[in-house]
Amino acid sequence: MRRPPLAIWQPAYIGLGSNLQEPNAQVRRACAGLQALACTRLVRVSPLYRSKPFGPVPQPDFTNAVAGILTQLDARTLLGELQALERALGRPAERERWGPRVIDLDLLVYGRERREEPGLTLPHSGIVERNFVLYPLADLAPELDVPGLGRVAELRGRVTPEGLERLGEP
Ligand code: AMP
Repeated sequence: MRRPPLAIWQPAYIGLGSNLQEPNAQVRRACAGLQALACTRLVRVSPLYRSKPFGPVPQPDFTNAVAGILTQLDARTLLGELQALERALGRPAERERWGPRVIDLDLLVYGRERREEPGLTLPHSGIVERNFVLYPLADLAPELDVPGLGRVAELRGRVTPEGLERLGEP
């Protein structure tokens, strides 16, 4: 790890997605990877969801979930660890913007932080329009107030569950 851990534990939420090479198994492997992160505890994983891909590239359905963690890593270090985990799980460094993926890990929310910096936007910019993020996030933390955006249960109420199927416990 590049930086010493913070002395405090921050709650953070990670979005997981996969649509290649047994997506459910990939999401479970990624959860095991989160559990093994330094200075971090995996608190709870949402049920798995199947979602329809969007964008111009025809590709298989996704499996999505959200994990709640507590971490002493600062947001940038945590994002670096998530990207290292993506590579360890077989994600190539370069790929199409909308293409299929073995694993995608997004830092959705980190404590009360709001940032817009090169390479790191917090909360994650895709939260409000993505039902495959808001449904599993609401399973874990419906009362969470996403900084600058509002309560998760309210945000979920603004998107339809179209194309989304709840698969059950991880
Ligand atoms: P993606 O292809 O969706 O995995 O996007 C990865 C890119 O988004 C990387 O260049 C990240 O640095 C950037 N990024 C910005 N904010 C975030 C965030 N909150 N979580 C994950 N990636 C982020």
